[in-house]
Amino acid sequence: MIHTHRHRAKSSEDRAFSGPVADPENRAAHGNICSVDTCSCGATRSANVNGRHVEQGKWVEPTDWNATPNASRKRPMVTLTMSDAGLAQLDRLAAKRDEPRGRVVEAALDALERS
Ligand SMILES: [Zn+2]
Repeated sequence: MIHTHRHRAKSSEDRAFSGPVADPENRAAHGNICSVDTCSCGATRSANVNGRHVEQGKWVEPTDWNATPNASRKRPMVTLTMSDAGLAQLDRLAAKRDEPRGRVVEAALDALERS
C-alpha cells in the first residue's frame, strides 16, 4: 500500500520496553518505557525513552512484517490492521484465556489450518 500523506501521531501510548526499535540502537534508552505513536492510517512509530535518552524508531506501515530491525530478536514483531470490532473481540478472547493477543491469533491460525 502506498501512502501519499505524511504520518502523524494521532494517538500515543506508553508501553513497557520490549526491545530495540531503531538501528543503530541507543542502549542508554533501553529498559524503561516504549512510547508508541499511531497514525490515522494505522502506521506506528516507537521510541524507547529512558530519562533523557531516546531511541527513535521510524514509521512502520501497518502491512510491514518483521518490522523490528534487530535480526537477533527471536520473535518477530507483527503489526496487524484490524477493525475496532475485531480488536475488541480479540481483546475479549485474550482476557478470557489470560493470554497475550499474539497467542490468541496463533491459536486461531492453528484452528484454521486444522479445519
Ligand atoms: Zn499515516
